[in-house]
Formats: sequence, C-alpha cells, structure tokens
Amino acid sequence: MFDKCIELLRSRGVELEDIAECVVYLQQKHHPDVTIEEILPTVESIVRKREVQHAILTGIALDIGAERNELFDRELCAILNTDYTLYGIDEVLAYGICNLYGSIALTNFGYIDREKPCIIGRLNSHDSTQCNCFLDDIVGAIAAAAASKIAHGHSSEVKS
Ligand code: MG
Repeated sequence: MFDKCIELLRSRGVELEDIAECVVYLQQKHHPDVTIEEILPTVESIVRKREVQHAILTGIALDIGAERNELFDRELCAILNTDYTLYGIDEVLAYGICNLYGSIALTNFGYIDREKPCIIGRLNSHDSTQCNCFLDDIVGAIAAAAASKIAHGHSSEVKS
C-alpha cells in the first residue's frame, strides 16, 4: 500500500521531497538550518500510516474521476475540476490526516493552505488539465502532520 501511494503521488506530480520542502518552509522560523534530507524520514513515516494512505487513495481517485468526467454527477465533476471555492470537502478529507497529529497539525494546515508554498502553489496554479482539488490539501496535510510530529519530538527533548 505504501509503494502504491508513492507511485500514485508521483504519477500526479508529487514526490516526497516536494512535501518535505513544504515542511522545511513550515519549520524555517523554529529550525532555520533544517534540510529536506533531514525531514524526509518523517514525511515517509506519515505516509506509512494506513489512515493517511486511505486519504491519499480516496482523494486522488476523486480527482482522477473528475478530470475524466467519470463521476456519476456532472455538477460534482465541474465543482472539483474548477476547485469551486465553496466546496470544502477536500479540506475535510485532509483534516482526517491532521487529526492524527493533534492541534499543531491543524494550525499548520490552516497556515500552509493560506500561504500555498512550493508544490502546493504549483498544484493550485490551474495551468494543467489535471484536477488537483483533493491532492493539494492532502499534500498540505501530510506536510502539516510532519511538522507537528517534529515539533512534538523537539518538545519532548526539551522536557527530558
Ligand atoms: Mg483543494
């Protein structure tokens, strides 16, 4: 399942390194010297979780269904293909990932969703025929979850 998710993300233009770059962006303030290579194992550990894999599969399946106009409802296809502003279910699916990593992940997700750095901005640029309605939020949520996991790791270091 992990390999399938990595392959699926890659086929949609997302490498784990791209997600790690978003985590570096989130960590800049607290850890200015952190590198993509240091972050990568944490990103990988997030994608190894079953709930995260299910969110990846579900979100990308809906994106692909929409861009092929294969979802049973034409209006729903149009909503996803245009990334209609008042449609928020893509974010709700992403919350499912954030919820596994606590409130810091949710706060990070809100921030990254507004700023749209790195790959998230590219996925949002609407200059391809690929539907990224769910994918951009999934990528943001994985990055937010990884940043939260790192933050919690550091806080336990401080305590002990
Ligand atoms: Mg979206």
